[in-house]
Amino acid sequence: MEKELAEEQRDEERLEWKLSLDPDLPFRVTDLKQWFYCRRIVYYAYCLPDVRPITYKMLYGREAGEEEVRREMRRNTHRYGGLEGRREFDVELFSLHLGLRGKADLVIWVEEPQPEVLVVEFKNSVKIGKQVQIQLLAYGLMLEEQSQIPARRGFVYLIPKRRTEEIVFSKGLRQELLATLEEMHTAVRSEQMPPPTENRAKCLACEFRRFCNDVL
Ligand code: SF4
Repeated sequence: MEKELAEEQRDEERLEWKLSLDPDLPFRVTDLKQWFYCRRIVYYAYCLPDVRPITYKMLYGREAGEEEVRREMRRNTHRYGGLEGRREFDVELFSLHLGLRGKADLVIWVEEPQPEVLVVEFKNSVKIGKQVQIQLLAYGLMLEEQSQIPARRGFVYLIPKRRTEEIVFSKGLRQELLATLEEMHTAVRSEQMPPPTENRAKCLACEFRRFCNDVL
């Protein structure tokens, strides 16, 4: 058991070391979403930026419904996890260590019963996929790094359901995020094209398909 733990710790240290080597290439948190959708989209965006189709930008835009909810949430005093604290909206975050940047919808600085920082995202969706959990954690880790205050969990407000879900930032989720970031940095730094998505139906409407001669 001890041996396994020591190996796990060494793996984490190796991962952190590799990530910290690459501070000049900050991915956006939304790139994580695209990476889960199809790795090649992120690869093309960073390795072939001049040929980026215009609609690529739309992938990163906020949906109209989400903007509306953000405005509404600024006015209300909904409590997340029963906790209260100072609120900040549209918080710009950056991490040299992770090579990551992004803007969190809402950050709450909790002081009692113990200090912690909560991040809240508003999503025009009825369920929370792994990519949303990973994105939420990415904001959490950047907040931890910048403030030295622990981010133990985050919340997703599902707009169509008008419901808030809590996501615990477990050790497993943290490792998954770090491993994903490492894969992204490695793919772009080495300019090695990742494999295509396994779901080829995605390719039919994809703006990048003219570059993916092996899928169609
Ligand atoms: S065409 Fe398919 S494999 Fe290529 S980038 Fe688009 S979704 Fe990915």
